[in-house]
Amino acid sequence: MKKGKKLYEGKAKIIYASAEKNLVIQHFKDDATAFNNQKKSVIEGKGILNNRISEHILTYLGQVGIKNHLIKRINMREQLIKYVNIIPIEFIVRNIATGSLTKRLGIEEGTTLEKPLLEYCFKNDKLGDPLISREHIITFNWLNLMELEWINEQCRRINDLLQGMFRSVGIKLVDFKIEFGKTKDENKIILADEISPDTCRLWDINTEKKLDKDRFRKNLGNLIEAYQDVARRLGILHEHSNIKPLKFPKPKAVKLKK
Ligand code: 5GP
Repeated sequence: MKKGKKLYEGKAKIIYASAEKNLVIQHFKDDATAFNNQKKSVIEGKGILNNRISEHILTYLGQVGIKNHLIKRINMREQLIKYVNIIPIEFIVRNIATGSLTKRLGIEEGTTLEKPLLEYCFKNDKLGDPLISREHIITFNWLNLMELEWINEQCRRINDLLQGMFRSVGIKLVDFKIEFGKTKDENKIILADEISPDTCRLWDINTEKKLDKDRFRKNLGNLIEAYQDVARRLGILHEHSNIKPLKFPKPKAVKLKK
């Protein structure tokens, strides 16, 4: 697939033109950022894992009727996707209270929410992605009421589907952020961007060990190992594909005394 000119560069991804007008190439970088770009690092291999994990999740969602931008993965770091105008809203779904929710409202860390909580943030780095209400979305014409209701319903369905997918491999889906866009050709709203451990909070069901970008945000280390664990549990990475066999020293011959 021939890559055209760079159309957009974000914190973790780059969008390039492709040979087809309504399709673009999404490239996953190894860059990690947090706290509105104040903390930055390069974590080798992160882009490759996010490319694979996001491909797996969006393919599954597509198969169960959630229309999304993914056409196909084309190599280790890149996917061919539908060209969309991103709606400038981050849709956040929460099942367990943590992160900004606990800081903002003093809700106790780890509280299981009675039902999933849907929040909206205005996608604007300069303003630090502020929390907004439905009224803001309608007032500023980011979406009309029907579109907003439709996306809300998609968010709830995606949450149900992903909770099931992760639960079956021993992972709690704590919360996640998704984005939607309007296709350039038909102006239809579809799920876009990525769904990966960069955009979700994922905890091991038994130990509550964090398997997501909080390992970077909170300096917990072993981010790649955690993302590999997610990929392995989802059946993307196979037991032997990325792990060098452990080498043990040969046992020394022991001479037995006669
Ligand atoms: P919080 O609002 O607690 O910081 O984040 C809630 C959820 O949305 C977390 O799963 C977090 O990873 C995701 N999220 C929120 N904003 C962003 C963002 O700007 N970038 C990424 N990658 N994830 C985000």
